[in-house]
Parts: sequence; C-alpha cells; structure tokens
Amino acid sequence: MVLRLSKLFLRTLREDPADAEVASHRLLVRAGYIRRAAPGIYTWLPLGLSVLRKVEQVIREEMSAIGAQEVHFPALLPKEPYEVTNRWTEYGEGIFRLKDRKGNDYLLAPTHEEMFTLLVKDLYSSYKDLPLSIYQIQNKYRDEARPRAGLLRGREFIMKDSYSFDVDDAGLDASYAAHRSAYLKIFERLGLEVIPVAATAGAMGGSKSEEFLHPTEIGEDTFVRSPGGYAANVEAVTTVVPAEIDFSNAPAAEVRDTPDTPTIETLVDAANVLVPRSEADGGAWTAADTLKNVVLAVTLPTGERQIVVIGVPGDRGVDLKRVEANIGSFLPIAGEITLEAAGEEDLKKQPLIVKGYLGPGLTLDAPLLGTEGAAKLLYLVDPRVVSGTAWVTGANEAGKHVFGLVAGRDFGWDGVIECTEVRAGDQAPDGSGPLETARGIEMGHIFQLGRKYAEALDLKVLDQNGKQVVVTMGSYGVGVTRAVAALAESNHDEKGLVWPRAVAPADVHVVAVGRGEEIFATAEQLSLELEAAGLEVIYDDRPKVSPGVKFGDAELVGVPTILAVGRGLVDGVVEIKDRRSGNAENVAVDKAVDYVVNAVRNS
Ligand code: ATP
Ligand code: MG
Repeated sequence: MVLRLSKLFLRTLREDPADAEVASHRLLVRAGYIRRAAPGIYTWLPLGLSVLRKVEQVIREEMSAIGAQEVHFPALLPKEPYEVTNRWTEYGEGIFRLKDRKGNDYLLAPTHEEMFTLLVKDLYSSYKDLPLSIYQIQNKYRDEARPRAGLLRGREFIMKDSYSFDVDDAGLDASYAAHRSAYLKIFERLGLEVIPVAATAGAMGGSKSEEFLHPTEIGEDTFVRSPGGYAANVEAVTTVVPAEIDFSNAPAAEVRDTPDTPTIETLVDAANVLVPRSEADGGAWTAADTLKNVVLAVTLPTGERQIVVIGVPGDRGVDLKRVEANIGSFLPIAGEITLEAAGEEDLKKQPLIVKGYLGPGLTLDAPLLGTEGAAKLLYLVDPRVVSGTAWVTGANEAGKHVFGLVAGRDFGWDGVIECTEVRAGDQAPDGSGPLETARGIEMGHIFQLGRKYAEALDLKVLDQNGKQVVVTMGSYGVGVTRAVAALAESNHDEKGLVWPRAVAPADVHVVAVGRGEEIFATAEQLSLELEAAGLEVIYDDRPKVSPGVKFGDAELVGVPTILAVGRGLVDGVVEIKDRRSGNAENVAVDKAVDYVVNAVRNS
C-alpha cells in the first residue's frame, strides 16, 4: 500500500523536543517516529514501527539461521522464580514490582533467564532433547537510574533475548560461537558498525562474555583496543602486573611528619623537600610512588551502606565503573549495588579514618560488611600493588606519612581488584601493544552463564549414561529499540534522518511539487507503478503544502530515495535524489520507475 502523507498518521515538528540531548532522540521525535509517554517510555508511530519491524525481521532471520526458535513469554511475572535465584533482591531498585489484588508480588521482567530455564525444565528431560536455543523479542522493564537519550536507555525497551541449553561445556561453546557469528551478521545487515569486546559478566554471573559496542562519542561505555587486536570494555581490562620484588634487604619503613599534606600533590612536594631521593634510588618522588587510599561507600541491594577502602598508585584515579564491575566477589551478597565516594556522614561513623592520611592496616570498631563487632576494614588494592613494592602512604595519623611501607611485609590486603582508570598507552594484557580508548553504545551482549541458573532452578537432564546432569546455559541479548536509535544516531545530517536501505521506513519518497493537476496525476501514477514493482512507497500527495515544507519533510523523514515530480514535467522529466549523497538527476518520466528500482537493488 502506498503511504499517502495526506492520510498517514504523522506530524513532523519544526522544533526540537526540549528534553532531547542527542541527535537520534531529537530527530526520531521531530520526524514523527516516536512520542514520549513518560521518562524513558515511548509510543511508536507508524513510521517508527516500520523501522522497528525491519530491525526485528533481520534479527529473526539470523536467529532462525542458527536454529533458534521463537517463543514469547509474559512480561508480567510472579516473584517466586526470581526469589529462588535471589534476583528479586539483587535487582534492588532496578526493577518494577507490583502486587495483584490478592497481595501477591509480581515484577515486570528486566530479563528472562529464570522463565526460560523453568520452561525447558517443564518440557525436556534427556540429553537427546539438546542442544536447544530459544528466543523472544519482547518488552523489558528496568527502572533505570538515569533514563536518557530517548530510546538509547529506556525504562521500557525491546530486547531480543535468546537462551541456549547444552548438556556439556563443548556444547555451550558451540552455541555461544553460533550466537556470536549471528550477531555479527545481524549488525552487518543492519549497517551498524559494532566491535565485539571482552566484557565482565556483571549481575548475570557466569564466565565468558562479550559485548558488541557501536563506537560513538555519545556512548556510555568506554572500551580499549590494541593494534594487535585486543578489544575489551574498560570494565574487563586486566592490568599487566609487575613482577614481585624480593624485599629481604629493603630498609625498614619510617613514619615522618608531613604537615599539611592531605593531597597526593602536596605529599609529593613535601617528600621531595623532606626526603630528597637520589637519582640512583629512583630520582625525585612522583605520584606513582605514593599509595592513595580511597574510601568508597557501597549501597548493597538490601539498602545497607558499607565502606570499602581501595589502595591505588597515587598517579592513577579510581574508575568507579571498574570497581562496580569487579567488587561483587568481595561483598557479602550479590546483586546491583551503587558506589560512590564516601561522604561526610559515612566518615563520621568511622572516626579512625583520618582524611588525607589514611594508610593500610586499620581495624575499625564498627561492624563492616555483615560482620559482627570489631572488624578489619575491607581493604582492596590495585594489581600493581604486588609483594615487595615500597610506598609512601598515610600513617593513619593527621600530618604523618610513612615512607618505604613494603607490600607483603608491612601490610596486607583482602583482595586485588581491577579498579583504576585505564589510560591510552597502557599495555594490552595479551602483549598486543598499547591501548587506545574510545566510547561506544552496547548493542548486544552474549554470556556463557554456565550452570548457575540451571542449578538454582534444578534443570537437569539424563545424559548418555543415564545419569542426571545439570544443563549448561548461555544467554544472549540484542537491544532492538536501542538499535533503532543507534541507527538514527549514526545515519543523520543537519536536515534529518538518512536511513540505510535495510531499515528505511520506505524505499522511495515521492513528492508532488507545485499545483498542476498533471503533476499530481503523474506522481500518483509513478507511486502506484513503484509499488507494483515491489517497492515500499511514501507519497506526499498533500494538496496545499509548499514545496519547501514537502522537501523539508522528505529530508527529515530520511527515506533513501526522493522522487520529485514538479516543474520538470513540462520537459518530460522528474528529479530523483539520493538522500545520502544529495546527488540529484533528472530522469525521463517513463524511465523513472526502472531508475528507482535499480537504485534500490544496487544499494
Ligand atoms: P547497559 O550496560 O547499557 O545498561 P546492560 O548490560 O544492562 O546494558 P543487558 O542486560 O546485557 O544490558 O541487556 C542486553 C541488551 O539490551 C543490551 O546489550 C542493550 O542493547 C539492551 N538494553 C539494556 N538496557 C537497555 C535500556 N535501558 N534501554 C534500551 N536498551 C537496553
Ligand atoms: Mg550488558
């Protein structure tokens, strides 16, 4: 059916929506693809739905090509399965919870691992039933702390989520590899550049995991790449750890008065005055010689607030996202946490922490991290703090620092954590060269979940020997609505959207420009012929709209080919314009359909 603009449910806007920070949000609203219903929640209009359906279709075809079958779960789910895996608690404030009239708890699903696991447990019982991959394309609900950038981070959004079920690890590897290659094909067909990067598993648990990041300045993820092909989300980068140093001959640590040195900078200056270091001993003190102890406050999924101290070389900042991604195994309970620098209130409760002069080795009176009574402070260090390294650090007394405090001899730690900022120029962990940093949007994420969910929900099958074995699982997500936004983001100019053919809401946008009856008759005829040739056609048949507005709308809407029927008609030609290049050509009316059909086929 030809979409006639006189009838199409569409209003383009001249003004940018006030809340739009990024181009995709601005343009999708202005060009009449989506409307905001509430923060992070959007209504889809006909043009938007058309693009969305095309993205979904590409995903369906590639899922089907690896043998995955489509199912559809409810979004409204009972609490119980999520209690068994503890995610009812772990999600903290991140999910929408509600009660039915009888007072039973429900949630709007943020993701569906539990339900898929239970469905397979319901129906399958033998290794002969496996491998199995099933998926859905469905609304997900997350009460994001910061919904932003329109569809990029919504509170209701569409995800394609698949789950694989295998009897052994080799099977899981194969299912994971199949999804990985399907994802690369999906993004290639959509015309969306993505880079697969190593990722941390986060709240999902499990082992191997990769994200597909679309590189863009507006992305919220930072990733690194090396010339030798290493690529990782900064959260997952591992530090090249220096060798341990023999400390048998290291001089004893010495506490010195260092008044007014609450910052690394003032400390380094004072050290160079108080204890000048000779060239032979390493030259002037720098921030890298100091051990900075950063006090963080962690809010656990239960709402409890705890403090943690992290020791890092003084020349490196702490990257809270990296801490958040890696601190899970040190905390008493799993789940979504929030992390921030400890505030005055937190510090008041820990009087032994002397701001600016904090060093390793404190024992606190306050209960910490679920322990009762006096507890050692949870003290984690950067991987560069290896045994035998000597540091200038706080002496836990105002105005005093200790020099030559040797790791492993004078102080210990509860754990090593990847926590400092990764810098351009740092070495890749696999020896493939210096890292470059860039920003990206996470378009997809694949996980080897392993047996975590199957164990929790008791999904077992009989293996070849008649023994019950726990099934091993993978989970794989693509942000479908986020893909629409990312496509808009990377395909626009100052005039509007410039869709790639694979997802454009139509193949050609026919514009009748001017007043003559013949103009409208010809435009109508061409639209019908283009449609008969198998193309999707938008036809701007609005009778009393100026050429400027019509062209403006065509460019805003962003269909790849614009065919204008206007003044040239007296000479027997129409104008056919490529939206991306801006190149326009006059083409004889009777050649116009073939010309457009070829343009569509050849691009
Ligand atoms: P992010 O780190 O961006 O919050 P996530 O790691 O929480 O995402 P996953 O649980 O891995 O997301 O979900 C799979 C995919 O769903 C993501 O790769 C992303 O494309 C999409 N997605 C996740 N959260 C949102 C959201 N709030 N709005 C739109 N798409 C989302
Ligand atoms: Mg993710």
